[in-house]
Amino acid sequence: MPASTLDRGRIAELVTDLSTTATDTVPVLAPFTGEVLHELPVGTAHDVADAAARARAAQRAWRAAGFAHRRAVLLRAHDILLAERERLMDTLQTETGKTRGQAFEEVFSGASVTRYCAVTARSVLATRRRHSGLPLVTRTRVSYKPKGLVGVITPWNYPLSLSLMDVVPALAAGNAVVQKADNQGALTILASRRAFIEAGVPAALWAVVTGDGAEIGNAVVDAADYVCFTGSTSTGTKVAERAAARLIGASLELGGKNPLLVLDDVEPGAAAADAVYACFASLGQLCVSIERIYVQRAVADSFTRFFVERVRQLTQGPALDYTTDVGSLTSAAQLERVTAHVDDALAKGAMLLAGGRARPDLGPFFYEPTVLADVTDDMLCASEETFGPVVAIHVVQSEDEAVAAANSSQYGLNASVFSGSLPRARRVADRLDAGSVNINEGYRASFGSIDAPMGGMKRSGLGRRNGPEGLLRFVESRTVAEATGRVPLPRTGAEFATMTGVLVAILMALRAIRRR
Ligand code: NAD
Repeated sequence: MPASTLDRGRIAELVTDLSTTATDTVPVLAPFTGEVLHELPVGTAHDVADAAARARAAQRAWRAAGFAHRRAVLLRAHDILLAERERLMDTLQTETGKTRGQAFEEVFSGASVTRYCAVTARSVLATRRRHSGLPLVTRTRVSYKPKGLVGVITPWNYPLSLSLMDVVPALAAGNAVVQKADNQGALTILASRRAFIEAGVPAALWAVVTGDGAEIGNAVVDAADYVCFTGSTSTGTKVAERAAARLIGASLELGGKNPLLVLDDVEPGAAAADAVYACFASLGQLCVSIERIYVQRAVADSFTRFFVERVRQLTQGPALDYTTDVGSLTSAAQLERVTAHVDDALAKGAMLLAGGRARPDLGPFFYEPTVLADVTDDMLCASEETFGPVVAIHVVQSEDEAVAAANSSQYGLNASVFSGSLPRARRVADRLDAGSVNINEGYRASFGSIDAPMGGMKRSGLGRRNGPEGLLRFVESRTVAEATGRVPLPRTGAEFATMTGVLVAILMALRAIRRR
């Protein structure tokens, strides 16, 4: 397996698109082989400030160009993304170690979100009349103004789709973007950005900087009018504090410890097949991935048998085609974290049902999909996010017990319910404290619903991406209300004395017709 099918020239060309004058570099490894993939420039806070100034200048014309222009550009970018998909998937797999299938999912959702923003931005952000508080007396409309410069900070795990879910709505709403890419996803971000530049996005409008997390991340928050952060809860908390000090808004897409509930009316084999995908796609390095399964006793044995059988059948390896089901972890740090969680659980008495070991024979960071039982609260993997291929199966007596256990986490990002009855599954879904709930699916039903908000409750985040909510976060609303002049508002005591009766009559009339 070569470190990469990306040729050196292509990598060098992409790296020149970074907004930096830095000469220092850091090696980036290819997860499938552990070989050095390329040397990535280490940007500085000055690079961010310079890029931010250029982006702000470019934003004026982009905003003035209007929705129709932006729609045409973004639809062109959509087509280029799809035309370039094989090369994008090569880049994605080479940087992250994921399978071709999951690389395709990224391209699919990146293209979907681009189309969605292109075609909906105008209607979501159109100036609209609102009811005024006093009909005949005042008239009200609301318009939206782009924030200006949006800071986007992205992790390494889904460098194409998660990046576009923030960048594209920001652009569609008329903003500029300065983005901090993780070292391990920078090439993918730069490659996808090229599609947008070719489509007509001015290069200065969307700047990408790499470098030390805290230095570049802080500089991005300091430069921006709004910040989108995707990453761990601990870093997200720091970003929120810094944004709060500047009184700028932030959307935070953070960690999860996502539960999947298997109710006692499922067909266990079918549920197990879907549940396996929900746990091990991208080898669990996915914020909405399942790490806890609660199965009702009546189906626990058969579900677990099918589940473990299916896990053992997964084909793991490095392949830049569709011949594997699971790939590699992305880094040595990830391998260390996963190993620590599994070793800790086993040392404290957990039972190993499948996996539980690294696979250096496949590549330096490969780890087997791992299934545990008898996981107790004192184990690291019980409540901390593993962010890897480790799931714990818990047997519960009742639906109530499953719901209580699912909700007993500090996180509330994603959840899943499997049931043979849709009404029952929907009732259970409504009781779960999670920003998204999938029925008879792990995460793809909601992740693919780009017209619906995505985000977390509790320590899984703040704000939402996707849907109208995902666009509205990038604008300031401006209410313009005008006096009609037909009925003047009272100004003096005497005018109040004569008008209070009329005003109360108006309130009673509005109440009678139930007007908002
Ligand atoms: P991380 O928090 O370590 O890093 C995320 C990004 O923040 C990186 O680009 C990093 O360089 C940068 N960063 C580091 N220190 C910073 C600082 N002080 N200020 C600003 N930025 C800083 O997370 P990670 O390990 O890259 O990603 C894994 C985590 O991300 C997991 O917890 C996962 O659940 C979460 N995640 C959440 C979502 C979601 O949509 N909710 C999606 C993907 C990943």
